[in-house]
Amino acid sequence: MARKAWAKKKRLIQQARQKNRKRRVAHPERRIKTARPARVFDRWIREVKKIIVRVLPGTAAARWRAGVILIFAAVMMGGLVRPWKRILEEPPLRLWRAYPDAVRGFKQNSKGWEFLLRNGPEIPYSDGLQVTILERMEGADLESILCQAYPFSRVSLPVKPGQEAGRFRNYELLKAAYGATPEEVKKNLVVVDFAGLAVEFNQNNGAAQALHDAAVEIQRDPEAMAYVKRVAGIRLEGARAFKLKRSPNISSWNWRCIEGTRRLSAHSFGIALDLNKTRISKPSYWRWLNPKKYPGGFERVTDLEPVSWPLVEIFEKHGFIWGGKWHHFDTMHFEYRPEFKLMEATGPVHAGGNNAGGGLK
Ligand SMILES: [Zn+2]
Repeated sequence: MARKAWAKKKRLIQQARQKNRKRRVAHPERRIKTARPARVFDRWIREVKKIIVRVLPGTAAARWRAGVILIFAAVMMGGLVRPWKRILEEPPLRLWRAYPDAVRGFKQNSKGWEFLLRNGPEIPYSDGLQVTILERMEGADLESILCQAYPFSRVSLPVKPGQEAGRFRNYELLKAAYGATPEEVKKNLVVVDFAGLAVEFNQNNGAAQALHDAAVEIQRDPEAMAYVKRVAGIRLEGARAFKLKRSPNISSWNWRCIEGTRRLSAHSFGIALDLNKTRISKPSYWRWLNPKKYPGGFERVTDLEPVSWPLVEIFEKHGFIWGGKWHHFDTMHFEYRPEFKLMEATGPVHAGGNNAGGGLK
């Protein structure tokens, strides 16, 4: 009796198992519906993989990499890009984007941002001081570098008092980017073919590359090239067939102070180029005025030495600024300052003190 009941129970269990097994095989989608989330995820991965294999060529690993990049790009374009873009437009990060190799990191503390420079020093983004434009010339904190917007257009010359965008330099940042001593800078110099002329420039931070790119474009522009030929003072035709020439009228690297000051010139770092040092007829540098010819001083000058606007615009396109757009003009001077191109869209940074200028001699 007991054995019979046991056999019946066994049969029922077997039938139930069979029934379950049949159901599982017959209705796979039902299984998926009730599956754990991980299984759903696995299926999605399989589907994506199928699409990737169909669409993208190459090895499995390359396909995966390409697929991940595509998905990432799609997500970024789908709205995530805006907040990121805003973060990158923050002034300290704009500066970092202009000098990526010079900055090894950031800190943010109660006083604000702090930049950790490549060669060691940690400097505050803003020193919090209320300074005059004259003091700012002597050495700006990082914030003050961008306190004035550089005008990327054909402005009427000479420009108004107080407009000196680009004359505020942070020497710690420049030293970290290009070299802190003459010996260090010299190691970073390369000779750039500037329309057949040999020009020594710093290879760090994209400076020499930018000069090279500008030179290529200048050679394609008849007006800009005519200006370079005129000021070079030597025949440039066929220069490269033999070797690059040096012009006494064009100078770049020179570890020196700015005339009449104890501040290092941008030329010390191999990031500036003077075109037309000697063959000039009209005022080109505010310190070089002949007092007999211009008794009113540089402030009264209206006839600056003409330069080629296409030349200026090509330089500006490649991250340079032109000294002709300073109230204290220096029309020979072109300087690699990529931060100004990056700030073009967003305008100047409000730094403590007097940004409008005046009072500088
Ligand atoms: Zn210069």
